[in-house]
Amino acid sequence: MLSFQESILGWYDQNKRDLPWRNATSPYFIWISEVILQQTRVEQGMPFYHRFVERFPNVNALATAQENEVLAVWKGLGYYSRARKLHHAAKIIVENSPTFPDSFNSLIKLPGIGQYTAAAIASIAFNEPVPALDGNAYRIMSRVFNIADNVASAKAQKQFIRLANEWISQARPGDFNQALMDLGSTVCTPRQPDCSKCPLNFGCEARALNNFHERPVKTSKKPPQNRFLMFDFLVNNDNLGLKKMEEGNIWKNLYLFPFREFASEQLLSEETARWERLGGETLPAGIHALSHQKIHYRTRIMPVENPEKTGYSKLKWCSHEELEGTAIPAVATKIINQWNNKRPATI
Ligand code: SF4
Repeated sequence: MLSFQESILGWYDQNKRDLPWRNATSPYFIWISEVILQQTRVEQGMPFYHRFVERFPNVNALATAQENEVLAVWKGLGYYSRARKLHHAAKIIVENSPTFPDSFNSLIKLPGIGQYTAAAIASIAFNEPVPALDGNAYRIMSRVFNIADNVASAKAQKQFIRLANEWISQARPGDFNQALMDLGSTVCTPRQPDCSKCPLNFGCEARALNNFHERPVKTSKKPPQNRFLMFDFLVNNDNLGLKKMEEGNIWKNLYLFPFREFASEQLLSEETARWERLGGETLPAGIHALSHQKIHYRTRIMPVENPEKTGYSKLKWCSHEELEGTAIPAVATKIINQWNNKRPATI
């Protein structure tokens, strides 16, 4: 174990990625970066990280902001529940404690902070020796130790936790966890690991057996739920009509075009055809993939003359400039781009 540990840390000292949150030991910056990177690659997440910490430079600034504002700054990253939980957790931190929670056990009680994120913050900011097990760590360990059980199974989890606790450096736990993240992202990658450059190649069982492409073992995920939506793209001059989504909706508190849901693709197509027969315009059909849902959508274009005199008066009517500061989900951005491709860009 010691030689694995020394090799990983030695490799990290030479090869660690230069990431902005690594220049500070502030738990706040580490927390924000870890949450952004939960579903986003480093290169994609970097500009969002800068934008977020520029607007909310500390936990107080985040806690006292309006949720709408937090969601608007998060715009483009998707998975808005992460931003809502960050905001909620910031409020709890500020209300309950004069300082940022400084241990794994206190961090894990906060909304949106799971085992991995709590371990990452506790080890990097507070030097607590708790292993941060993300996809990179599972992949590396399942290859080095040739673990043939399904990663998510209780048996494998027990084994990973035991090995990770033996493996982690007591002196440099934060660096150790970050070394695994970097090694998994740059060398022991899912499809094509570069074993010749790997500091663990001397003892890696999967490399010796040439079965690294079979590790980690994962059972196939539940297929996403298909949903069939018809959006109403409401246009008044250059303004768009958006509805604030309510509780129970995956887009809760975001602004989106009003929509109706159909039970099948066929019913959605029939409704589209009916609209077109009446002379109505539509945008091209689209599919928007979320983590657990696949949204099959059509969009009908509906010019609105006088919003205040119709049932649309309660919508938020946004100009191009106002859209910039409004929290809209990625599917709305896709539809607006389709509209701009269809005619001279006005919105
Ligand atoms: S030797 Fe190859 S398979 Fe094994 S941990 Fe290193 S990169 Fe991954």
